Amino acid sequence: MKIKINEIFFSLQGEGTQVGIPTTFVRLFGCSLRCSWCDSMYAVEGDDYKEVKVQELIADIEKIKCKNICITGGEPLHQKEELVFLTNILLEKGYRILLETAGHIRPMDIFKNSNVLISMDCKCPGSGMDKKTNLSLLKELEAKDQIKFVIKDLKDYEYAKNIVLKNFFKAQVIFQPVYGSNLESLVNMVLKDNLNIRVVPQIHKIIWGDIRGV
Ligand code: SF4
Repeated sequence: MKIKINEIFFSLQGEGTQVGIPTTFVRLFGCSLRCSWCDSMYAVEGDDYKEVKVQELIADIEKIKCKNICITGGEPLHQKEELVFLTNILLEKGYRILLETAGHIRPMDIFKNSNVLISMDCKCPGSGMDKKTNLSLLKELEAKDQIKFVIKDLKDYEYAKNIVLKNFFKAQVIFQPVYGSNLESLVNMVLKDNLNIRVVPQIHKIIWGDIRGV
């Protein structure tokens, strides 16, 4: 079975609750959304991908010798069958997986495994994709998972706050400022409103800037 991948690289997890953990990133190709602030359009459209056998991809992953895998994109859930096949083998081999997904497609049952953390976006208006989010999918996530709001401006903050205050989520909630936006003002608003969430900026961009492959 072949899978479309954009890139594979070893770096620090830069986002969410696993921030700072050395991780192998597997970026799958293709996405049906077009977020205004997308930082990986090269994995969304165009021809910057290769189709590889899943077993070859696993061999490349094993060469890196890191048990933490982040499967990202693009939107990984578009390649359902291939992704389940890949995830099944990785779990059997003892890998811990973080799956990044945009919040409009239901993750398959294999991602309920306790060695998988689902990181699901709740798109805010600033992305232009807020109507695509399926709130019921966010409510189905477990305590092991995380919900990520990427916050661009005050309108996004108010939108995210409203959703957090009006809904019960078992998953941990992350507010992540868009790279280059004002982190301090976001933190001040969260403290003023005393929200039960976690603010985590993208540390890989603080370390290396907004460049590809880190
Ligand atoms: S869902 Fe993710 S990959 Fe797709 S356009 Fe939005 S940010 Fe980019």
